[in-house]
Amino acid sequence: MFNNNTILERFAQQETPFYYYDLQLLEETLTQAKAAADKRNFHIHYALKANFNDRVLAIIQEKGFGADCVSGNEVQKSIDLGFPADKITFAGVGKADKEIITALKHRIFAFNVESIQELEVINALAAEVGETANISLRINPNVDAHTHHYITTGLDENKFGVPNSELEKAAAVIGNCAHINLLGLHFHVGSQITDMNVFKSLCVKVNEWKNWFEERGTYIKVINVGGGLGVDYQNPDANPIPDFEAYFDIFDKFLERNAQQEVHFELGRALVAQAGTLVSKVLYTKSGAKKNFLILDAGMTELMRPMLYQAYHKIEKIGADVGAKELNYDVVGPICESSDCFGKEVPLPQSQRGDLIAIRTAGAYGEVMASRYNLREEVRYVFS
Ligand SMILES: *Cc1c(COP(=O)(O)O)cnc(C)c1O
Repeated sequence: MFNNNTILERFAQQETPFYYYDLQLLEETLTQAKAAADKRNFHIHYALKANFNDRVLAIIQEKGFGADCVSGNEVQKSIDLGFPADKITFAGVGKADKEIITALKHRIFAFNVESIQELEVINALAAEVGETANISLRINPNVDAHTHHYITTGLDENKFGVPNSELEKAAAVIGNCAHINLLGLHFHVGSQITDMNVFKSLCVKVNEWKNWFEERGTYIKVINVGGGLGVDYQNPDANPIPDFEAYFDIFDKFLERNAQQEVHFELGRALVAQAGTLVSKVLYTKSGAKKNFLILDAGMTELMRPMLYQAYHKIEKIGADVGAKELNYDVVGPICESSDCFGKEVPLPQSQRGDLIAIRTAGAYGEVMASRYNLREEVRYVFS
């Protein structure tokens, strides 16, 4: 992908490693997602935790997306960057009092509440600051997302959401809380989901729970089905933009709703992943009896996904290398951990010190997870 001379010249002048964001691709992805959602009257809140780079966020905000936050700082950042408060939601199993108060003061659209105790705490804090909190109750639908177990969230064994056995009690508590207003229900079953049947199963569960509440006389205005749409890590060039039409179509077909009920989504990865690439330089090469190593100047401190959940990222040598001999490399970083490895036995043109390497599809859960471990430098980034 990175074979045109303008890009190569820019990359060569830039200190590595750095994130490269393709803003044209980002814009095109957002445009397609927004069009597919608008057509069905669906609302998208972008999940900030996937990437909260200021420039990226500004573009998402300009396109008219809402913000899905998982900390008080994310709520504050969304406000600072101009996301309207009535398009901000706040989710997470462990909201601290200070964070709840921040969100209450900004009068955000809704808290996605994950336990009965949290309902009581939000109610008490709202009373203290003289506000009423709009909430959606996060229900654990027990749907298997068929994704990596670290990014599965909707099973009974996961920590997320109010357990089904507690919903009767949660409904009663909500009824008794004067400073809480139930807007709707919230679900999120996991991330990097590429099997559309998972979303179909989710719709079936959502319908059941919506009926359960409506039979008890509770009106559900907002149905929030979370995020989780996956991207193609194997073939970023063939599939740079997820099939938003197919994704929204499933919900359009299988979610039961009336004209007044709103359907909300919280997409993160699908909107930003393909627009980001981690660009790194080969520091050293070394070959032993069994292995060829490419030692990069980027490691788990810049991109943690491969180490954290054995995630696959496509690795490419930057620049044309027509006819070069291919070798299988273990592509590793400089950090003092054996897990600091981006890929094993990766076929690449024979490489040498100074060559540039692209680690693709790194726009989501990349820069945001960067750390200073080993007292590494702050992560850098450049834009197209
Ligand atoms: C992480 C998260 C999202 C976004 O997930 P993606 O897989 O990036 O789309 C949405 N909602 C909640 C509650 C989350 O925790």
